[in-house]
Amino acid sequence: MSMSYEKVEVPAEGEQITLADEETGELNVPENPIIPIIYGDGIGTDVGPATQKVLDAAAEATGRSIAWMRVYAGESAREKYDENLPEDTVTAIREHRVAIKGPLTTPVGAGFRSLNVALRQTLDMYANVRPTYHINGVPSPVKSPEKMDMVTFRENTEDVYAGIEWEAGTDEVEQVRSFLEDEMEVADVIHDGPVGIGIKPISEFGSKRLIREAIDYAIAQERDSVTLVHKGNIMKFTEGAFRDWGYELAEEEYGDEVITEDDLWEEYDGEQPEGTVVVKDRIADNMLQQILTRTDEYDVVATMNLNGDYMSDAAGAQIGGLGIAPGANFGHGRCLAEPVHGSAPKYAGEDKVNPTAMILSGREMLDYLGWKDAADLVRDAVEETISSGTVTYDLHRQIEGGTKVATSEFADAIVENIEKLS
Ligand code: NAP
Repeated sequence: MSMSYEKVEVPAEGEQITLADEETGELNVPENPIIPIIYGDGIGTDVGPATQKVLDAAAEATGRSIAWMRVYAGESAREKYDENLPEDTVTAIREHRVAIKGPLTTPVGAGFRSLNVALRQTLDMYANVRPTYHINGVPSPVKSPEKMDMVTFRENTEDVYAGIEWEAGTDEVEQVRSFLEDEMEVADVIHDGPVGIGIKPISEFGSKRLIREAIDYAIAQERDSVTLVHKGNIMKFTEGAFRDWGYELAEEEYGDEVITEDDLWEEYDGEQPEGTVVVKDRIADNMLQQILTRTDEYDVVATMNLNGDYMSDAAGAQIGGLGIAPGANFGHGRCLAEPVHGSAPKYAGEDKVNPTAMILSGREMLDYLGWKDAADLVRDAVEETISSGTVTYDLHRQIEGGTKVATSEFADAIVENIEKLS
């Protein structure tokens, strides 16, 4: 454990969270833990401080405190230290185990690779978990948003996000093209002329450890089903294999606790036995319409990186949009909470956007610390605030009446409700 950082604001007080059990990833959480926070780019400087304020209030209301450790990535790191992602930032998160971050901008096409992806990969946080549930009072484009209560486990380290790609016009891409055409006998597929080529690795190890997290979660939370979402009809040896490994894992490791959808109909006549989890699978394009038309049939979802990204944004829209949708990354006894949304640069610094997504990501983090009372308080206070009509611009434009407030005012209103509810 090294506590000598140069590019981190070490708090004067607070204790370090440590690992209690290597095997289970269980943590020793003091009552005043040090928690690293990256505000992030764009609207990160609006939603980050708002989130801190709310989480501080929830901690205080339950007899605890958080010692925040400011760490830097993206624009703020470039300004302060002339680098995108200081090693100290990664080390601080690795050593303190539980952290929260706002969004980081990724340039499209050229420039540096995604810092979000780099952080998740470096720390091997292989599960990106995105809960999608409706908060009373939040306007939604669908008729029954309350039917959505889904938790998506998105694989975080593989797929076309692995960063194995070569740019058109380079020697490398031509080497890959020759290898494919000359040695692998891929004929008449790649058009002549400039081409970019990317690789999509999906491994048994990566798939099974992600699906295991999803099934364990479903069992622990008494959820009914885990749906494996894939495009295995087209990408047979990657996405199809993900599905097959999922069913294999369910059979190998869970015995009678987990049954397949076929078992459900063939052996149990559609009546799910108490205490079981049903594993089923859906093709990704079908799934995107099913979450609209048969919303309440989906519970826990396990899927690969790209599908998971698309699907959780679409599901997020159903429960009120990106201003609401929370997330967190997990792996090896670590948690890095982060909202689903990006840095929305056009609103940066305007004290305008909705901080709910980052606040509810913080709620996931509190839950992971084992502070369920504080986590529930955050959710209840957010619900109370929004249902009373106190909302930011994004929700205000969708409701009749209501009071439009700034990011910071919205956070203050939540803090007031935390104090009232506790
Ligand atoms: P975005 O930043 O999520 O913003 C898209 C739109 O979503 C906004 O214009 C706004 O819609 C709405 N929105 C997002 N966050 C909101 C909030 N907190 N409150 C209210 N509305 C919100 O997506 P983007 O414009 O595609 O991406 C911008 C940058 O963020 C890119 O560089 C991208 O790579 C990065 N990004 C980072 C992460 C991450 O850090 N994990 C994730 C996704 C994207 P309206 O204008 O319609 O109100």
